[in-house]
Amino acid sequence: RPASSVTIPPPPSMLRPLQAPFRYLFGPGPSNVPPRVLAAGGRPIIGHLHPEMYEIMNDIKKGIQYAFQTQNHMTLAMSGSGHAAMECAVFNIVEPGESVLVAINGIWGERVAEIADRMGAKVHTMVKSPGERFSNEEIEQALAKHKPVLFFLTHGESSAGLAHPVDGIGDLCLKHNCLFLVDSVASLGAAPLFMDQQKIDILYTGSQKALNAPPGTAPISFNDRACEKMFNRKSKPVSYMLDMSHLSNYWGNDGKPARMYHHTGPVSGFFALRESLAILAEKGLERSWQQHREVAEYLWKGLEDLGLKLFIKDKDLRLPSVTTIAIPEGYDWREMLAYIMKHHQMEMTGGLGPSIGMVMRVGLMGYNCNKPNADMALNALADALKHCRKSKA
Ligand code: PMP
Repeated sequence: RPASSVTIPPPPSMLRPLQAPFRYLFGPGPSNVPPRVLAAGGRPIIGHLHPEMYEIMNDIKKGIQYAFQTQNHMTLAMSGSGHAAMECAVFNIVEPGESVLVAINGIWGERVAEIADRMGAKVHTMVKSPGERFSNEEIEQALAKHKPVLFFLTHGESSAGLAHPVDGIGDLCLKHNCLFLVDSVASLGAAPLFMDQQKIDILYTGSQKALNAPPGTAPISFNDRACEKMFNRKSKPVSYMLDMSHLSNYWGNDGKPARMYHHTGPVSGFFALRESLAILAEKGLERSWQQHREVAEYLWKGLEDLGLKLFIKDKDLRLPSVTTIAIPEGYDWREMLAYIMKHHQMEMTGGLGPSIGMVMRVGLMGYNCNKPNADMALNALADALKHCRKSKA
């Protein structure tokens, strides 16, 4: 009997209007999106293969080259969140059986190690407690021992609040014939990073942190050394969607006269990303870095005045975009965060992965990064400290 009648009724929830409250997004991301970027994302859609869209993609490429401080031709934005960029980097660079070295001092190294393991790489890890740094000597020893084709390091370790130093590591990777992959999802625009000068071979970020675009797109760039390996591999990457031979064509980076259909890019997401990169270009990287540093120092001082302890002791290693606070004794961090959400409409978060139960995280990124917002965050924390104290019994 052919199906002829609808047996599943329209769900009542879908007959009610969309509800999305205003929140102060003072956690590790996403951050609040400024009206100009929201407006760009709300413009009428055009086709993903229209010439005007190619122009917008070309603008995005230029905006990323500025933000990354790179002249790399192979620069584009992923149709997907930061994880799409993580997988794109690993899937395209590494072939099954090849050795990969991952620095783990928080969740992001753990994730990349898992991604590389899933695609059949031989994964070696250097593991430290969340928020600890690796010395260049330790890195060089591990490079010499494991002879990886790829070394991964997180610049802005958002689960721990660490801004990891990068200088000199690119040279070590070059010396040991390894490609240097850096995650700047939580740090780009907030802390200095120089892709070309620091000899980073592959760099990616996310749209939703200091760039203040909605989540869902992720800038990435590969230098010539990375392209050389990526485009001369024997096996095809495990993912069709993330295959750089297709994505480079879609972004007009492969020198071919025509861009072919590969997938339908997130048109609104690209409009918004373009606008967020334009705001960064207008403001200037140096000013943005300085603003994050100043507001972060103001926040750190305010936190210490509240009697809170910062998780990363060395000021110079603290991530200016995401601050980690050690959980104050006598408090339940979940209760504090729930209190702040309920009474201040403000998101702050706990730890992530290995830092769960160790920290609370406050992020003031890009558009959110100013002293009045820092004061609001401090006020909310002070209020929670007053109301959430556990009895000693
Ligand atoms: N790396 C870092 C350092 C991050 O902070 C995040 C997001 N919290 C990611 C990667 C993953 O990005 P996404 O959630 O956009 O996939």
